[in-house]
Amino acid sequence: MTTVLERPIAFDSVLATVAAVDDVSPHLRRVTFVAPRIAEVVTAGPDQRIKILFSPPDGSELRLPTGDDWYAEWCATQVEQRFIMRTYTIRALRPEVAELDIEFVLHGVNGPASAWVSEAQPGETVGLILPFAVDTTSTKGLLQSGVDYVPPATSVHRVLVADETALPALAGILEQLPPAVRATVFVEVPDVRDIRPLPTPGEADITWIAQAGGPDDAPQSLLEALKSSSLPFDVDYAWVAGESAMIKQVRRHLVNAVGLPKSTISFQGYWKRGEPQV
Ligand SMILES: Cc1cc2nc3c(=O)[nH]c(=O)nc-3n(C[C@H](O)[C@H](O)[C@H](O)COP(=O)(O)OP(=O)(O)OC[C@H]3O[C@@H](n4cnc5c(N)ncnc54)[C@H](O)[C@@H]3O)c2cc1C
Repeated sequence: MTTVLERPIAFDSVLATVAAVDDVSPHLRRVTFVAPRIAEVVTAGPDQRIKILFSPPDGSELRLPTGDDWYAEWCATQVEQRFIMRTYTIRALRPEVAELDIEFVLHGVNGPASAWVSEAQPGETVGLILPFAVDTTSTKGLLQSGVDYVPPATSVHRVLVADETALPALAGILEQLPPAVRATVFVEVPDVRDIRPLPTPGEADITWIAQAGGPDDAPQSLLEALKSSSLPFDVDYAWVAGESAMIKQVRRHLVNAVGLPKSTISFQGYWKRGEPQV
């Protein structure tokens, strides 16, 4: 049977104002954005990706993209003259008050997004490209709508692997975990003070890896933590998100050592060490 969508997938740009800036932990800062059209935003899942836009490097004003061809036009524009674009996750959406939250990793001032958030103040404006219609009727539709966490409906036990950039998505995934589903979770953060409660209605067994401040004998990486754990036999789906080299190593381990079929693993590079995103 063919499902006819009431509305095709639609993303559009809006100018959003910073309403609040709060530190969740030493390396994660939550920014609340407000704009009238956020009242119409929808999400396809807890790891819904969006774009944040900043003024071009040449200092000219940010002009919001419009029309179906905006991306081809953006690619064809010289780097100095085109707006800066980075990918983030909607951590929380409150359409009733036209607000959404993004949690930014504070990784220094060597990237435009991280540099911006390190000084962000209420009242400032940025561009956002947001979903206004999504397709939740099929896996393909979900992926095209900007989510990667798409477990099969039959899944009972999931492995979730995330670094700090994917912690906002992970927090949302755990909040929406069905009560009958188990998650074995590995999450890496820069500092032991970035560890925080991750509530879930499901059942989650969470292993934290802190790059600084943890005990000397604790695993130093997500891969090491995975290798030293024995995953339960009934794992049927894995979601892996974070630094590009890490996700590839973790996927290789899940396929070769754990025996998960490649088709059951969603792995997503959120950033690449030593390289800007675009
Ligand atoms: C689907 C998706 C969802 C994402 N969601 C989030 C989110 O909710 N929160 C979030 O913080 N990030 C998220 N990211 C990651 C974010 O887009 C990247 O970290 C991005 O590179 C940040 O842009 P920037 O301008 O700060 O740095 P860039 O200009 O892209 O990079 C500059 C330098 O910083 C380094 N760098 C980038 N990110 C990090 C980091 N985290 N730690 C250390 N060095 C880094 C790069 O390797 C490069 O050397 C997401 C990415 C994707 C693809």
